[in-house]
Amino acid sequence: MDNIWQEPFGNSLLGLPQRSDHEQELAAQADIHARRARDAAYLAAVADACHAANDEQAIFHALASCTAGWTDSAGVVSASGELVAFATRTTDADGPIAAPLFETCAMRGAGVAVPGIFPLREMLLDSMTTAQWQHILAAAPIIIAGEHIATLYAAACGTQAPLDEASLATLTHAAASAERALVKARAYHDLMTRLDALEAESRQKDDFLATISHELRTPLTAILGFAHIIVENDALGAARRRGMAADIVASGGLLLTQVNDLLDIVQLGAGRLTVAPEIVDLTTVIRWCARTVRALMHSKNLQFALTIPANLPSVRANTARVQQVLLNFLVNAYKFTPAGGMVTLEARAVGERVAIAVRDTGIGIAPEDAARIFEPFARIETDATRTQSGAGVGLAVARQLVEMMDGTITLDSTPGVGSTFTVMLHQGAATPA
Ligand code: ADP
Repeated sequence: MDNIWQEPFGNSLLGLPQRSDHEQELAAQADIHARRARDAAYLAAVADACHAANDEQAIFHALASCTAGWTDSAGVVSASGELVAFATRTTDADGPIAAPLFETCAMRGAGVAVPGIFPLREMLLDSMTTAQWQHILAAAPIIIAGEHIATLYAAACGTQAPLDEASLATLTHAAASAERALVKARAYHDLMTRLDALEAESRQKDDFLATISHELRTPLTAILGFAHIIVENDALGAARRRGMAADIVASGGLLLTQVNDLLDIVQLGAGRLTVAPEIVDLTTVIRWCARTVRALMHSKNLQFALTIPANLPSVRANTARVQQVLLNFLVNAYKFTPAGGMVTLEARAVGERVAIAVRDTGIGIAPEDAARIFEPFARIETDATRTQSGAGVGLAVARQLVEMMDGTITLDSTPGVGSTFTVMLHQGAATPA
Protein backbone atom coordinates (compact mmCIF):
# COMPACT_ATOMS: atom_id res chain seq x y z
CA MET A 1 0.00 0.00 0.00
CA ASP A 2 1.43 3.42 -0.85
CA ASN A 3 2.06 5.82 1.99
CA ILE A 4 0.74 9.30 1.32
CA TRP A 5 1.65 10.78 4.70
CA GLN A 6 5.36 9.92 4.50
CA GLU A 7 7.71 12.87 4.16
CA PRO A 8 8.33 12.99 0.42
CA PHE A 9 11.89 14.30 0.79
CA GLY A 10 14.55 13.50 3.42
CA ASN A 11 16.16 16.36 5.41
CA SER A 12 19.42 15.93 3.50
CA LEU A 13 17.81 16.82 0.24
CA LEU A 14 16.58 20.07 1.80
CA GLY A 15 20.09 20.94 2.95
CA LEU A 16 19.22 20.61 6.67
CA PRO A 17 21.77 19.07 9.07
CA GLN A 18 21.45 15.28 9.62
CA ARG A 19 20.41 14.12 13.15
CA SER A 20 22.87 11.96 15.11
CA ASP A 21 21.78 8.42 16.13
CA HIS A 22 21.49 9.57 19.72
CA GLU A 23 19.32 12.50 18.74
CA GLN A 24 17.19 10.22 16.63
CA GLU A 25 16.78 7.80 19.54
CA LEU A 26 15.86 10.64 21.88
CA ALA A 27 13.35 11.93 19.36
CA ALA A 28 11.89 8.43 18.97
CA GLN A 29 11.57 8.05 22.75
CA ALA A 30 9.96 11.47 23.00
CA ASP A 31 7.50 10.35 20.31
CA ILE A 32 6.70 7.18 22.24
CA HIS A 33 6.11 9.16 25.44
CA ALA A 34 3.97 11.68 23.66
CA ARG A 35 1.95 8.92 22.08
CA ARG A 36 1.48 7.09 25.40
CA ALA A 37 0.36 10.33 27.01
CA ARG A 38 -2.09 10.97 24.15
CA ASP A 39 -3.49 7.43 24.35
CA ALA A 40 -3.82 7.63 28.14
CA ALA A 41 -5.61 10.99 27.88
CA TYR A 42 -7.92 9.50 25.23
CA LEU A 43 -8.79 6.47 27.36
CA ALA A 44 -9.35 8.65 30.44
CA ALA A 45 -11.65 10.92 28.41
CA VAL A 46 -13.62 7.90 27.11
CA ALA A 47 -13.95 6.46 30.63
CA ASP A 48 -15.16 9.82 32.02
CA ALA A 49 -17.57 10.58 29.17
CA CYS A 50 -19.05 7.06 29.10
CA HIS A 51 -19.39 7.06 32.88
CA ALA A 52 -21.30 10.37 32.74
CA ALA A 53 -23.66 9.14 30.00
CA ASN A 54 -26.56 7.05 31.21
CA ASP A 55 -28.13 5.79 28.03
CA GLU A 56 -26.90 3.85 25.03
CA GLN A 57 -27.13 6.70 22.55
CA ALA A 58 -25.24 9.10 24.82
CA ILE A 59 -22.50 6.50 25.35
CA PHE A 60 -22.07 5.99 21.59
CA HIS A 61 -21.88 9.74 21.02
CA ALA A 62 -19.34 10.20 23.81
CA LEU A 63 -17.28 7.36 22.37
CA ALA A 64 -17.33 8.75 18.82
CA SER A 65 -16.54 12.26 19.96
CA CYS A 66 -13.58 11.25 22.21
CA THR A 67 -12.25 8.94 19.49
CA ALA A 68 -12.42 11.69 16.86
CA GLY A 69 -10.42 13.86 19.27
CA TRP A 70 -7.78 11.18 19.53
CA THR A 71 -7.47 10.14 15.88
CA ASP A 72 -9.43 12.18 13.41
CA SER A 73 -12.84 10.78 12.56
CA ALA A 74 -14.90 8.15 14.30
CA GLY A 75 -18.18 6.38 13.89
CA VAL A 76 -20.16 3.82 15.84
CA VAL A 77 -22.11 1.43 13.65
CA SER A 78 -24.78 -0.78 15.20
CA ALA A 79 -24.79 -4.52 14.62
CA SER A 80 -27.60 -3.95 12.10
CA GLY A 81 -25.33 -1.63 10.07
CA GLU A 82 -26.80 1.71 11.16
CA LEU A 83 -24.46 4.63 11.89
CA VAL A 84 -25.53 5.54 15.43
CA ALA A 85 -22.83 8.13 16.21
CA PHE A 86 -20.30 10.07 14.15
CA ALA A 87 -17.69 12.75 14.89
CA THR A 88 -14.86 14.29 12.93
CA ARG A 89 -12.13 16.92 13.32
CA THR A 90 -11.36 17.00 9.63
CA THR A 91 -11.33 20.37 7.98
CA ASP A 92 -11.88 21.04 4.32
CA ALA A 93 -8.12 21.36 3.87
CA ASP A 94 -7.71 17.72 4.88
CA GLY A 95 -10.54 16.64 2.67
CA PRO A 96 -14.08 15.95 3.82
CA ILE A 97 -15.01 12.76 5.60
CA ALA A 98 -18.56 11.74 4.95
CA ALA A 99 -20.37 9.96 7.75
CA PRO A 100 -21.55 7.18 5.38
CA LEU A 101 -17.91 6.15 5.03
CA PHE A 102 -18.29 4.15 8.21
CA GLU A 103 -21.55 2.58 7.11
CA THR A 104 -19.93 1.53 3.85
CA CYS A 105 -17.08 -0.05 5.77
CA ALA A 106 -19.52 -1.80 8.08
CA MET A 107 -21.43 -3.13 5.10
CA ARG A 108 -18.19 -4.50 3.73
CA GLY A 109 -17.63 -6.33 6.96
CA ALA A 110 -14.68 -4.39 8.35
CA GLY A 111 -14.09 -5.43 11.94
CA VAL A 112 -17.65 -6.40 12.62
CA ALA A 113 -16.89 -8.94 15.30
CA VAL A 114 -13.12 -8.87 15.75
CA PRO A 115 -10.74 -5.92 16.07
CA GLY A 116 -8.85 -5.13 12.91
CA ILE A 117 -7.04 -2.59 10.80
CA PHE A 118 -8.09 -2.02 7.25
CA PRO A 119 -6.52 -0.01 4.44
CA LEU A 120 -9.38 2.13 3.33
CA ARG A 121 -8.66 2.15 -0.33
CA GLU A 122 -9.11 -1.60 -0.38
CA MET A 123 -12.30 -1.31 1.59
CA LEU A 124 -14.02 1.42 -0.31
CA LEU A 125 -15.36 1.83 -3.75
CA ASP A 126 -13.04 3.70 -6.10
CA SER A 127 -15.74 6.27 -6.66
CA MET A 128 -15.59 7.35 -3.01
CA THR A 129 -13.28 10.30 -3.24
CA THR A 130 -13.11 10.56 0.56
CA ALA A 131 -10.99 7.42 0.47
CA GLN A 132 -8.19 9.46 -1.06
CA TRP A 133 -7.83 11.27 2.22
CA GLN A 134 -8.06 8.35 4.61
CA HIS A 135 -5.16 6.04 4.97
CA ILE A 136 -6.33 3.55 7.50
CA LEU A 137 -9.39 2.52 9.43
CA ALA A 138 -9.33 0.69 12.75
CA ALA A 139 -12.35 -1.18 14.05
CA ALA A 140 -13.06 -2.51 17.54
CA PRO A 141 -16.26 -4.42 18.23
CA ILE A 142 -18.43 -3.68 21.26
CA ILE A 143 -19.62 -6.97 22.66
CA ILE A 144 -21.82 -7.55 25.70
CA ALA A 145 -22.32 -11.04 27.10
CA GLY A 146 -21.26 -12.56 23.80
CA GLU A 147 -23.65 -10.39 21.78
CA HIS A 148 -22.17 -8.06 19.19
CA ILE A 149 -23.80 -4.69 19.87
CA ALA A 150 -21.89 -2.28 17.64
CA THR A 151 -18.48 -1.51 16.18
CA LEU A 152 -16.33 1.50 16.97
CA TYR A 153 -14.47 2.77 13.89
CA ALA A 154 -11.61 5.24 13.88
CA ALA A 155 -10.22 6.73 10.69
CA ALA A 156 -6.99 8.71 10.50
CA CYS A 157 -6.71 11.43 7.91
CA GLY A 158 -3.79 12.17 5.58
CA THR A 159 -2.13 14.64 7.95
CA GLN A 160 -2.40 12.35 10.98
CA ALA A 161 -0.06 9.66 12.19
CA PRO A 162 -1.12 6.28 10.80
CA LEU A 163 -3.20 3.88 12.86
CA ASP A 164 -1.19 0.78 13.71
CA GLU A 165 -1.47 -2.27 15.94
CA ALA A 166 -0.76 -0.14 19.04
CA SER A 167 -3.59 2.21 18.03
CA LEU A 168 -5.87 -0.79 17.62
CA ALA A 169 -5.03 -1.97 21.15
CA THR A 170 -5.93 1.49 22.48
CA LEU A 171 -9.14 1.54 20.45
CA THR A 172 -10.05 -1.90 21.81
CA HIS A 173 -9.54 -0.57 25.35
CA ALA A 174 -11.86 2.32 24.56
CA ALA A 175 -14.48 -0.11 23.21
CA ALA A 176 -14.15 -2.16 26.42
CA SER A 177 -14.71 1.00 28.46
CA ALA A 178 -17.90 1.62 26.48
CA GLU A 179 -18.97 -1.99 27.06
CA ARG A 180 -18.73 -1.52 30.84
CA ALA A 181 -20.66 1.76 30.60
CA LEU A 182 -23.34 0.06 28.46
CA VAL A 183 -23.74 -2.78 30.96
CA LYS A 184 -24.13 -0.19 33.72
CA ALA A 185 -26.58 1.88 31.63
CA ARG A 186 -28.67 -1.19 30.86
CA ALA A 187 -28.80 -2.18 34.53
CA TYR A 188 -29.76 1.40 35.39
CA HIS A 189 -32.43 1.43 32.68
CA ASP A 190 -33.87 -1.91 33.90
CA LEU A 191 -33.92 -0.60 37.44
CA MET A 192 -35.67 2.63 36.43
CA THR A 193 -38.22 0.71 34.35
CA ARG A 194 -38.96 -1.54 37.31
CA LEU A 195 -39.17 1.47 39.61
CA ASP A 196 -41.59 3.21 37.21
CA ALA A 197 -43.72 0.07 37.03
CA LEU A 198 -43.76 -0.22 40.83
CA GLU A 199 -44.67 3.45 41.18
CA ALA A 200 -47.47 3.10 38.60
CA GLU A 201 -48.74 -0.01 40.40
CA SER A 202 -48.66 1.77 43.73
CA ARG A 203 -50.49 4.79 42.25
CA GLN A 204 -53.06 2.48 40.69
CA LYS A 205 -53.59 0.78 44.05
CA ASP A 206 -54.06 4.16 45.78
CA ASP A 207 -56.56 5.24 43.10
CA PHE A 208 -58.28 1.89 43.37
CA LEU A 209 -58.62 2.17 47.16
CA ALA A 210 -59.92 5.74 46.86
CA THR A 211 -62.44 4.67 44.21
CA ILE A 212 -63.76 1.63 46.04
CA SER A 213 -64.07 3.51 49.34
CA HIS A 214 -66.20 6.05 47.49
CA GLU A 215 -68.17 3.41 45.59
CA LEU A 216 -68.96 1.39 48.70
CA ARG A 217 -69.83 4.45 50.77
CA THR A 218 -72.49 5.75 48.34
CA PRO A 219 -74.95 2.81 48.47
CA LEU A 220 -74.12 2.19 52.16
CA THR A 221 -75.04 5.78 53.00
CA ALA A 222 -78.34 5.36 51.15
CA ILE A 223 -79.07 2.07 52.97
CA LEU A 224 -78.30 3.59 56.37
CA GLY A 225 -80.30 6.75 55.58
CA PHE A 226 -83.47 4.79 54.68
CA ALA A 227 -82.99 2.38 57.59
CA HIS A 228 -82.73 5.29 60.05
CA ILE A 229 -85.89 6.87 58.71
CA ILE A 230 -87.77 3.57 59.11
CA VAL A 231 -86.41 2.95 62.62
CA GLU A 232 -87.07 6.48 63.89
CA ASN A 233 -90.51 7.06 62.33
CA ASP A 234 -93.15 4.75 63.77
CA ALA A 235 -95.77 6.84 62.05
CA LEU A 236 -94.51 6.04 58.51
CA GLY A 237 -97.28 4.65 56.37
CA ALA A 238 -96.99 1.07 55.05
CA ALA A 239 -96.57 2.26 51.47
CA ARG A 240 -93.68 4.61 52.29
CA ARG A 241 -92.10 1.95 54.48
CA ARG A 242 -92.31 -0.55 51.60
CA GLY A 243 -90.89 2.01 49.16
CA MET A 244 -87.91 2.66 51.41
CA ALA A 245 -87.38 -1.05 51.99
CA ALA A 246 -87.34 -1.48 48.19
CA ASP A 247 -84.70 1.26 47.96
CA ILE A 248 -82.64 -0.52 50.61
CA VAL A 249 -82.88 -3.76 48.63
CA ALA A 250 -81.84 -1.96 45.42
CA SER A 251 -78.86 -0.23 47.07
CA GLY A 252 -77.88 -3.46 48.82
CA GLY A 253 -78.02 -5.27 45.47
CA LEU A 254 -75.74 -2.65 43.87
CA LEU A 255 -73.37 -2.91 46.80
CA LEU A 256 -73.21 -6.67 46.53
CA THR A 257 -72.53 -6.49 42.77
CA GLN A 258 -69.67 -4.06 43.39
CA VAL A 259 -68.16 -6.12 46.19
CA ASN A 260 -68.42 -9.31 44.12
CA ASP A 261 -66.78 -7.63 41.12
CA LEU A 262 -63.96 -6.29 43.29
CA LEU A 263 -63.33 -9.66 44.90
CA ASP A 264 -63.36 -11.32 41.49
CA ILE A 265 -60.95 -8.89 39.87
CA VAL A 266 -58.49 -9.51 42.71
CA GLN A 267 -58.92 -13.28 42.34
CA LEU A 268 -58.60 -13.07 38.54
CA GLY A 269 -55.43 -10.97 38.86
CA ALA A 270 -53.94 -13.62 41.14
CA GLY A 271 -55.03 -16.38 38.72
CA ARG A 272 -57.11 -17.96 41.50
CA LEU A 273 -60.56 -17.72 39.98
CA THR A 274 -61.97 -20.91 38.51
CA VAL A 275 -65.33 -21.47 36.88
CA ALA A 276 -66.81 -24.95 37.21
CA PRO A 277 -68.75 -25.85 34.06
CA GLU A 278 -72.27 -27.22 34.45
CA ILE A 279 -75.50 -27.35 32.50
CA VAL A 280 -77.25 -24.05 33.12
CA ASP A 281 -81.02 -23.72 32.88
CA LEU A 282 -80.98 -20.35 31.10
CA THR A 283 -84.68 -19.68 31.40
CA THR A 284 -84.51 -19.87 35.21
CA VAL A 285 -81.36 -17.74 35.33
CA ILE A 286 -82.77 -15.05 33.04
CA ARG A 287 -86.08 -14.90 34.93
CA TRP A 288 -84.16 -14.58 38.23
CA CYS A 289 -82.12 -11.68 36.82
CA ALA A 290 -85.28 -9.97 35.54
CA ARG A 291 -86.96 -10.29 38.97
CA THR A 292 -83.86 -8.90 40.69
CA VAL A 293 -83.66 -5.71 38.60
CA ARG A 294 -87.32 -4.98 37.86
CA ALA A 295 -87.79 -2.78 40.96
CA LEU A 296 -84.51 -0.99 40.22
CA MET A 297 -85.62 -0.18 36.65
CA HIS A 298 -89.00 1.09 37.80
CA SER A 299 -87.39 3.26 40.48
CA LYS A 300 -85.86 5.27 37.60
CA ASN A 301 -88.95 5.12 35.42
CA LEU A 302 -87.30 2.80 32.89
CA GLN A 303 -89.45 0.40 30.89
CA PHE A 304 -88.18 -3.12 31.29
CA ALA A 305 -89.03 -5.97 28.91
CA LEU A 306 -88.12 -9.65 28.93
CA THR A 307 -88.18 -11.58 25.62
CA ILE A 308 -87.32 -15.28 25.71
CA PRO A 309 -88.71 -18.14 23.64
CA ALA A 310 -90.54 -20.94 25.42
CA ASN A 311 -88.01 -23.59 24.39
CA LEU A 312 -84.77 -21.75 25.14
CA PRO A 313 -81.94 -24.33 25.22
CA SER A 314 -79.76 -24.74 28.31
CA VAL A 315 -76.08 -23.82 28.03
CA ARG A 316 -72.76 -25.22 29.17
CA ALA A 317 -71.56 -22.56 31.63
CA ASN A 318 -71.86 -21.76 35.34
CA THR A 319 -75.15 -20.62 36.83
CA ALA A 320 -73.79 -18.10 39.36
CA ARG A 321 -71.37 -16.62 36.83
CA VAL A 322 -73.99 -16.23 34.08
CA GLN A 323 -76.22 -14.45 36.63
CA GLN A 324 -73.34 -12.19 37.62
CA VAL A 325 -72.53 -11.24 34.01
CA LEU A 326 -76.16 -10.52 33.09
CA LEU A 327 -76.75 -8.53 36.29
CA ASN A 328 -73.69 -6.48 35.46
CA PHE A 329 -75.08 -5.63 32.00
CA LEU A 330 -78.51 -4.87 33.47
CA VAL A 331 -77.15 -2.60 36.21
CA ASN A 332 -75.06 -0.76 33.60
CA ALA A 333 -78.13 -0.38 31.38
CA TYR A 334 -79.97 1.06 34.40
CA LYS A 335 -77.09 3.44 35.20
CA PHE A 336 -76.45 4.70 31.67
CA THR A 337 -80.03 5.05 30.40
CA PRO A 338 -81.80 8.31 31.23
CA ALA A 339 -85.20 8.12 32.96
CA GLY A 340 -88.01 7.28 30.56
CA GLY A 341 -85.79 4.97 28.47
CA MET A 342 -86.10 1.27 27.83
CA VAL A 343 -84.08 -1.81 28.79
CA THR A 344 -84.66 -5.21 27.20
CA LEU A 345 -83.33 -8.61 28.24
CA GLU A 346 -83.66 -11.14 25.44
CA ALA A 347 -82.30 -14.57 24.50
CA ARG A 348 -82.49 -16.87 21.47
CA ALA A 349 -80.75 -19.91 20.05
CA VAL A 350 -78.23 -19.15 17.29
CA GLY A 351 -76.99 -22.34 15.65
CA GLU A 352 -75.18 -24.41 18.28
CA ARG A 353 -75.11 -21.50 20.66
CA VAL A 354 -77.41 -19.21 22.59
CA ALA A 355 -77.26 -15.42 22.44
CA ILE A 356 -78.36 -13.48 25.52
CA ALA A 357 -78.56 -9.72 25.02
CA VAL A 358 -79.16 -6.69 27.20
CA ARG A 359 -80.35 -3.79 25.06
CA ASP A 360 -80.80 -0.21 26.26
CA THR A 361 -81.78 3.14 24.81
CA GLY A 362 -79.11 4.93 26.86
CA ILE A 363 -76.21 7.27 26.23
CA GLY A 364 -74.29 4.73 24.10
CA ILE A 365 -70.54 4.21 23.78
CA ALA A 366 -68.25 5.86 21.22
CA PRO A 367 -66.45 3.39 18.90
CA GLU A 368 -63.03 4.48 20.24
CA ASP A 369 -64.10 3.51 23.80
CA ALA A 370 -65.69 0.17 22.87
CA ALA A 371 -62.59 -1.98 23.46
CA ARG A 372 -61.27 0.03 26.40
CA ILE A 373 -64.31 -0.44 28.65
CA PHE A 374 -63.50 -4.15 28.96
CA GLU A 375 -60.14 -3.30 30.54
CA PRO A 376 -59.94 -3.25 34.37
CA PHE A 377 -60.67 0.18 35.93
CA ALA A 378 -61.71 1.71 32.60
CA ARG A 379 -64.50 4.23 32.83
CA ILE A 380 -65.60 6.74 30.24
CA GLU A 381 -65.37 10.16 31.81
CA THR A 382 -68.13 12.38 30.42
CA ASP A 383 -70.73 14.58 32.08
CA ALA A 384 -73.27 11.81 31.53
CA THR A 385 -71.19 9.05 33.16
CA ARG A 386 -69.45 11.00 35.94
CA THR A 387 -72.60 11.13 38.02
CA GLN A 388 -72.85 7.31 37.99
CA SER A 389 -71.13 5.17 40.58
CA GLY A 390 -68.77 2.38 39.51
CA ALA A 391 -65.16 1.31 39.83
CA GLY A 392 -64.85 0.26 36.18
CA VAL A 393 -64.28 -3.42 36.89
CA GLY A 394 -67.66 -5.01 36.07
CA LEU A 395 -67.11 -5.47 32.33
CA ALA A 396 -63.49 -6.60 32.80
CA VAL A 397 -64.70 -9.32 35.14
CA ALA A 398 -67.63 -10.18 32.84
CA ARG A 399 -65.38 -10.60 29.81
CA GLN A 400 -62.96 -12.87 31.63
CA LEU A 401 -65.76 -14.95 33.15
CA VAL A 402 -67.43 -15.41 29.77
CA GLU A 403 -64.10 -16.38 28.17
CA MET A 404 -63.59 -18.93 30.97
CA MET A 405 -66.99 -20.36 30.04
CA ASP A 406 -65.79 -20.62 26.42
CA GLY A 407 -68.15 -17.86 25.32
CA THR A 408 -67.86 -14.41 23.78
CA ILE A 409 -69.14 -10.92 24.53
CA THR A 410 -69.93 -8.44 21.78
CA LEU A 411 -70.97 -4.84 22.00
CA ASP A 412 -73.07 -2.95 19.50
CA SER A 413 -73.54 0.68 20.43
CA THR A 414 -74.35 4.07 18.94
CA PRO A 415 -73.72 7.19 21.01
CA GLY A 416 -76.98 8.88 21.90
CA VAL A 417 -79.04 5.91 20.68
CA GLY A 418 -78.17 3.00 22.95
CA SER A 419 -76.10 -0.13 23.52
CA THR A 420 -76.53 -3.88 23.22
CA PHE A 421 -74.21 -6.23 25.11
CA THR A 422 -74.52 -9.82 23.84
CA VAL A 423 -73.13 -12.99 25.43
CA MET A 424 -72.84 -16.12 23.29
CA LEU A 425 -72.61 -19.44 25.11
CA HIS A 426 -72.52 -23.03 23.86
CA GLN A 427 -75.68 -25.07 24.18
CA GLY A 428 -75.36 -27.67 26.90
CA ALA A 429 -78.09 -30.20 26.33
CA ALA A 430 -80.93 -31.03 24.00
CA THR A 431 -83.54 -28.31 23.59
CA PRO A 432 -86.29 -28.88 26.14
CA ALA A 433 -89.54 -30.12 24.64
P1 ADP B 1 -68.64 0.57 36.09
O1 ADP B 1 -68.70 -0.03 37.45
O2 ADP B 1 -67.89 1.84 36.02
O3 ADP B 1 -69.97 0.65 35.43
P2 ADP B 1 -68.04 -1.37 34.04
O4 ADP B 1 -66.80 -2.14 33.79
O5 ADP B 1 -69.29 -2.14 34.24
O6 ADP B 1 -67.73 -0.45 35.28
O7 ADP B 1 -68.26 -0.37 32.86
C1 ADP B 1 -67.16 0.40 32.39
C2 ADP B 1 -67.62 1.65 31.68
O8 ADP B 1 -68.29 1.31 30.45
C3 ADP B 1 -68.67 2.44 32.46
O9 ADP B 1 -68.06 3.27 33.43
C4 ADP B 1 -69.33 3.23 31.34
O10 ADP B 1 -68.54 4.34 31.01
C5 ADP B 1 -69.30 2.24 30.16
N1 ADP B 1 -70.59 1.50 30.01
C6 ADP B 1 -70.83 0.24 30.43
N2 ADP B 1 -72.09 -0.14 30.12
C7 ADP B 1 -72.64 0.90 29.46
C8 ADP B 1 -73.94 1.13 28.85
N3 ADP B 1 -74.90 0.20 28.86
N4 ADP B 1 -74.13 2.33 28.26
C9 ADP B 1 -73.17 3.27 28.22
N5 ADP B 1 -71.93 3.12 28.77
C10 ADP B 1 -71.69 1.95 29.38
